[in-house]
Amino acid sequence: MDQPIETYRCPDCGQPLEVMKACGATSYFCNHCNELKSSQRVREHNAAGNQEQH
Ligand SMILES: [Zn+2]
Repeated sequence: MDQPIETYRCPDCGQPLEVMKACGATSYFCNHCNELKSSQRVREHNAAGNQEQH
C-alpha cells in the first residue's frame, strides 16, 4: 500500500497515533485519549507488539 509514514499505536488504548515532527523532535498524539504520549513509551510499546513488521 501507499503508506510511507510509520504507524504507531497508543500504549494506553491501542488506537493509531498521530505523529508530529517539530524542531527535530517527534511527538505522538492520541486522538482517542486526546493527549500527547511520551515517545519513549510509544516506541517501547510498539517494539514489543510489532516485531513481525519489517
Ligand atoms: Zn490512546
